[in-house]
Amino acid sequence: MSTTRRIAIVGGGVAGLGPAWQLARRGWDVHLFERDEIGCGASGRAAGMLAPNSEVTFEEEQLLRLGQASLKRYPRWVEELTDATGADLDYRRGGALIVAVDRDDAEELEQLYQYHQRLNLPVERLIGRQAHRMEPGLSPSVHYALFTPGDHQIDPAAMVEALGEAFVAAGGHLHQHQPVAKVLIGDKLEGLGFEDGSTEYFSHIVIAAGPWSSQLEGIPDGILPSIRPIRGQMLVVELGEPPLVEHVVRAPDAYLVPRRDGRLLIGSTMEERGFDPRPSAGGLLDILEGAREAVPGIYDAHILDYWTGFRPTTLANQPVIGPTSIDGLYLSVGHGRNGILLTPITAYGLAETIDTNELPSILRPFAPSG
Ligand SMILES: Cc1cc2nc3c(=O)[nH]c(=O)nc-3n(C[C@H](O)[C@H](O)[C@H](O)COP(=O)(O)OP(=O)(O)OC[C@H]3O[C@@H](n4cnc5c(N)ncnc54)[C@H](O)[C@@H]3O)c2cc1C
Repeated sequence: MSTTRRIAIVGGGVAGLGPAWQLARRGWDVHLFERDEIGCGASGRAAGMLAPNSEVTFEEEQLLRLGQASLKRYPRWVEELTDATGADLDYRRGGALIVAVDRDDAEELEQLYQYHQRLNLPVERLIGRQAHRMEPGLSPSVHYALFTPGDHQIDPAAMVEALGEAFVAAGGHLHQHQPVAKVLIGDKLEGLGFEDGSTEYFSHIVIAAGPWSSQLEGIPDGILPSIRPIRGQMLVVELGEPPLVEHVVRAPDAYLVPRRDGRLLIGSTMEERGFDPRPSAGGLLDILEGAREAVPGIYDAHILDYWTGFRPTTLANQPVIGPTSIDGLYLSVGHGRNGILLTPITAYGLAETIDTNELPSILRPFAPSG
């Protein structure tokens, strides 16, 4: 194997695994280093809503375009991953319901509807009766809702596992429990230094260590954007029979994501608490109350699990993907609350960039500034 195509990826979340798999398929000698186990960061703990349209806020049109471009690639992505592994990723294209539970929410939702209309996004306005026909478990207080038929969903933990498998099957080298301490840069990029004191040469390196990326030593100032962890708490209950909901339901203070395996995920908080991984009573209470407001039957559901995760978030709330000013050093960081949605565009786009030296135009607004 030529040493000029020997690449290291630091971090085993979707931002690292996706490009790693694609580069291995393109014939690169790829080594992915994960300090713990793949998916142990945000990627294995996400809800898996693939919702560029529902997630859009009024000032994020560039991110919307990136999300839409990624969603467009999802069917092919899932097909390739399923072909490579045979995994069931619980990928669905059933759309989502955004519901209002009082008059103020209804007014906000109406503004969102007008905004979606202006951007030509697929959205349908539903009165209470229509919403209840789609989801009989909705609270009687839901009088107004939007249906976004373009939203998809997937099981992120299953996707991470499949990505690991596909990566290895494509000839990639997966090094778990191998924490990277340092990026070695002399006159040029030299390789990686590990916490056990060893070092290895690489011609190319991708930093994809989520909100921990800034803890890596050796990267000169100005190369990495500031990335902070935004904590999200998640609660999992039994979906029940008949299921409490069949679609993703987004209420003002919580969302509900049903899974084919009988789980219902309820999320999520947005908290600035550093890296404290302990779920809090208040956080779980907030999302439970938010969910119950929209779907009262939650009250009797059995709790199966709960956890926290850290969304890697930049100041601009945008991912940073592409080559840095140091030859051979690339970033795949800052995917915030959309990293699962952005997995295919990040994987295909970054692999193409590294392989051809050309950043696809859709990624240009997200290129590193340093
Ligand atoms: C509660 C919650 C719900 C979410 N819901 C959605 C959703 O519905 N839809 C969506 O699109 N997105 C969602 N997200 C966002 C999504 O999960 C993230 O954007 C995405 O997973 C980020 O991927 P990543 O690979 O950058 O980071 P991570 O998945 O955190 O991966 C980083 C990896 O780097 C490893 N690492 C760190 N330091 C080192 C080191 N020194 N050496 C080696 N390895 C290291 C870590 O162990 C970790 O595995 C959600 C996030 C949370 C927390």
